[in-house]
Amino acid sequence: MPPLRQAYRLMHRARGHLQWWPADSPFEICVGAILTQNTSWKNVELALANLKAASVLSPKNIHALTHDQLAQLIRPAGYFNIKAKRLRNFVDTVVEHHGASLKRFFKGDTTTVRNRLLAINGVGPETADSILLYAGGHSSFVIDAYTKRIFERHGWCNTKADYDELQLLCTESLSHKRGAAKLDYWQDFHAQLVVVGNHYCKPRNPLCTECPLQTLLPIPVK
Ligand code: SF4
Repeated sequence: MPPLRQAYRLMHRARGHLQWWPADSPFEICVGAILTQNTSWKNVELALANLKAASVLSPKNIHALTHDQLAQLIRPAGYFNIKAKRLRNFVDTVVEHHGASLKRFFKGDTTTVRNRLLAINGVGPETADSILLYAGGHSSFVIDAYTKRIFERHGWCNTKADYDELQLLCTESLSHKRGAAKLDYWQDFHAQLVVVGNHYCKPRNPLCTECPLQTLLPIPVK
């Protein structure tokens, strides 16, 4: 097993609990998770600000918008036509099949709700797991490009490991807690990996000497 629990302790010691995901409501988390595909979080924030300023950040209100109205509001997030369709697909499911209630949408065991999300056109595993973990109260570990890069560089996974393999590795290594404690642990674990990936584990020239995970490298850095 890779030393993931030790990795968490080191990351947590460096920055404390990160209190993710930053949002005012579970629905805002869902929208953010859909809009953040292939763009920076700053751009997502601008799109969310537009939705808030227009007072439409709810399933019913987004459902009532035309495609063009929605696309214009989320324009800062990039790929706005595609993302408007994806967001609408999600909102249509919530409104038309779950009475516009996220609570009802998230009802059921994690596998059932995950499959419900994955059945929505435009929602892939990373988006589905982000929504489950941060908005839905379901412990579903999120894997992203940062996770893969960090794990590969530390020799914790095979270079060909896919999403499901990495998720299984994390789930098996990090299931020593239960219920709300496990949910909180997984939420913060992913947040810590994103911060390490963003600040230190860059695609080129990683800043290993400054990184909280440097003591876990297979070959020590000087
Ligand atoms: S920056 Fe270096 S020490 Fe930090 S996670 Fe990446 S490879 Fe590991």
